[in-house]
Amino acid sequence: MKNTGRDLGGKPVVGNRTILPGDTIGILGGGQLGRMMALAGTAMGYRFVTLDPTPEAPSSHTAHQIVAAYNNIEAARELAMAADVITYEFENVDAGVASLLEKESYVPQGSQLLYTTQHRVREKQAIEKAGVPVAPYRVIEGLDSLKEAVDELGLPCVLKTATGGYDGKGQFVIRHAEQLDEAFTELAASGRELVLEQFVSFQSEISVIAARSPQGEVKTFPVSENIHVNNILHLSIVPARLSLKIQREARQLAEKLATSMDAVGLLAVEMFVTAEGKLYVNEVAPRPHNSGHYTMEACETSQFEQHVRAICNLELQDTELLTPVVMVNVLGQHLDAVIQRAGERDEMAIELGVIPKLHLYGKNESKTNRKMGHINLLCKDVQEGLDWVEHTNIWR
Ligand code: AMP
Repeated sequence: MKNTGRDLGGKPVVGNRTILPGDTIGILGGGQLGRMMALAGTAMGYRFVTLDPTPEAPSSHTAHQIVAAYNNIEAARELAMAADVITYEFENVDAGVASLLEKESYVPQGSQLLYTTQHRVREKQAIEKAGVPVAPYRVIEGLDSLKEAVDELGLPCVLKTATGGYDGKGQFVIRHAEQLDEAFTELAASGRELVLEQFVSFQSEISVIAARSPQGEVKTFPVSENIHVNNILHLSIVPARLSLKIQREARQLAEKLATSMDAVGLLAVEMFVTAEGKLYVNEVAPRPHNSGHYTMEACETSQFEQHVRAICNLELQDTELLTPVVMVNVLGQHLDAVIQRAGERDEMAIELGVIPKLHLYGKNESKTNRKMGHINLLCKDVQEGLDWVEHTNIWR
C-alpha cells in the first residue's frame, strides 16, 4: 500500500509525510551504503526496494532489486510505484530521474541539494553562502585562466574537475609552474569544467555527519579523524585526536551547513584542519558516508538508522559515542587475510582489549582498491585499535 501521508496518530499530513514501519523505502543505488541502510531499516520494520544496474548488487541480499540503469526512466517509475518514500545512496543522480521521482513519488530530500553537490563550484558557493570557509578557489576557463589563477592563489594548488571526481580521481596537484600545461591537458581532456583550489597544508582531515529532520531539527555525530591512503579512506579514528574546541566548532559548522542547505537526512561534511586550528570544508555529500561507518557499533544510533528516521519523519535519536573506535576499510587486497583472521581466535585483539566487528558488503567480485567491507575496532583508547591494525600486517 502506498503511504498517502499521515502523522504518528494516523491523521493525514500536508507537506512532510511520516513513513511508518511496514512501509517501503526505495533507494536509488544498491551498493554498500544502500545495503547498510536497508539492514538498519529492516531491523526497524521497513521494507526496501533498490534500483541498481549490477545484478546481485550488495543491497540485493537485504532488499528487492530492480536491475536497470540509473537513468532508466521506466525503471525509476517502477521504483516510484513500489516505494512510499525515495532516497539515494550517491549524489550523481540523473536530473531526469530526480525530477520524475519528485513528481511521481515522495522524495523528502528533494533534488536541490543533489544539484548543488554534483558540482564542486556550486557546492563551494553554497558552503560560502552558509558562512563556512572553503579553501580559496578559482573557476578555470582555459590555460590562460589557469595561469592567472595560479598567480593569484600561489603554489601548490589542486586542479579538479567540477563534476565526476571521487577518491582523488579527476585531480592534479600542481607543485611547480612547469606542471601547469600537463595538469591542464590531463584534466581538460575529460571535457568537464575545472576548478583550482589552493592546497591546504592540513594537519588532519576530519568529517562530521549531520542529520536533519524535515522539521529542521539537526543532530551531528562525533568528529571522525580520517586517514587516507592513495586517496581512499583507510582509517576513521573517533574520538578525533584534536582539541574539544576544534571538535565543537567542526560540529557547529556541519550543523550550520545542514540548515543552510536545507538538507533532509544525512549530510556528510569533510574538512581540513590546519596546524593553527583553522577549519576548511572540502566536500559535502547528502548521504551516508564511509567515514560514518564507525557509528554502527560505537554510537547510540548509527548513521544509517538516523538517515532512515530523518527521511521517514521520525524523531531523530541521540548520537553519543559509546566507546572509542577505529574503523579500518577492507579493500580487495585485504579481503582474504581478513576473512581468514575472522575465523580464528584473535589473540592480539584479546591482548589489546580490542573488539573487532566485521562488516562485509557481499560483493561478488573482489578487486584491488575496491571497498569490500570494514572493521569497527571497539577499544578503550584509539591507540589500541591503531596497534591492532598495524600488528596484523594486513594493511602494510
Ligand atoms: P576530494 O576528492 O576533494 O575529497 O580530495 C581527495 C583528497 O585529496 C582529500 O582527501 C585530500 O587529502 C586531498 N585534497 C583535496 N583537495 C585538497 C586541497 N585543496 N588541499 C590539500 N589537499 C587536498
